[in-house]
Amino acid sequence: MRPILFTHDSAQKHQVPEGHPERPERMQALSPILAERATKWHSETAPEADHEQLQLVHPDSYLHWVYEQAATVQDEDKPVNLDPDTWIGPDSLTAARCGVGATCAGVDRLMTGKSARVFSAMRPPGHHAEPDKAMGFCLFSNAAIGAEYARKTYGLTRVAVLDFDVHHGNGTQAAFYGDGDLYYASTHQMPLYPGTGAADERGCGNIFNYPLAAGAGGAEFLSGWRDVLLPAMLAAQPELIIISAGFDAHRADPLATLNVNTADFATLTDDIVRLAEETSEGRILSLLEGGYDLTALADSCAVHLDRLSA
Ligand SMILES: [Zn+2]
Repeated sequence: MRPILFTHDSAQKHQVPEGHPERPERMQALSPILAERATKWHSETAPEADHEQLQLVHPDSYLHWVYEQAATVQDEDKPVNLDPDTWIGPDSLTAARCGVGATCAGVDRLMTGKSARVFSAMRPPGHHAEPDKAMGFCLFSNAAIGAEYARKTYGLTRVAVLDFDVHHGNGTQAAFYGDGDLYYASTHQMPLYPGTGAADERGCGNIFNYPLAAGAGGAEFLSGWRDVLLPAMLAAQPELIIISAGFDAHRADPLATLNVNTADFATLTDDIVRLAEETSEGRILSLLEGGYDLTALADSCAVHLDRLSA
């Protein structure tokens, strides 16, 4: 069974203003490392999510507002903003829909036994989008939608999202907060955007936050996972593991000040694979989130993919 990679042209076309960190060049930086893995990974074009899939997390009022905003954007040189950080151009709604589409199709591939590993190389990211709010470069809450889709379509009772992006995934947490069957575990720098993610934000016992101080390195990052978060996820026994794979905890990243190295992402991926083998029959759906130093993003994503497919 080959691992499956989802991409879509729209990920490169999602426009943001000049100087924005979440830029099309991120996809261009990933392009060679994805091409190098074309024999090992089976590549698929991400389908566009339908309204019903988006509704799994987002209310109609929010979705119609996003559609209306997208309909006003005619000119790729004049993107419009949905919040101070979150911009859309003419291709952005398609890109965001394809991010959700890749997520749901990824769940399908895993749950029908086509593969045990799926990676979605899409932008914009998703983990800051709350059910009724675009935030932090994100329009739709990909990981949370994936969990709800797995539950609704395949009757799963326990799904976990593991988020190692340097920012706290407030959107995923908000979607899961009162739902004891959906688990969320996150390391993130704190204080930092978006401001949530304190260790005492526990939801109904299903939320596990491990904040890290500025300057923390790989030892602290891995210890958070090995000593606290992964044991909690093992106890939860999820039937599907979704990763919010952001690589902005890397020491080279310009948006944060953790000192995680490329090799630490490899080590953590190995640990998550072991967890999946023990709880979810090996099933892992990994979704690209942040990572804004182009070299660190490409190097870290490469080792993540290689460990997922090892
Ligand atoms: Zn981030």
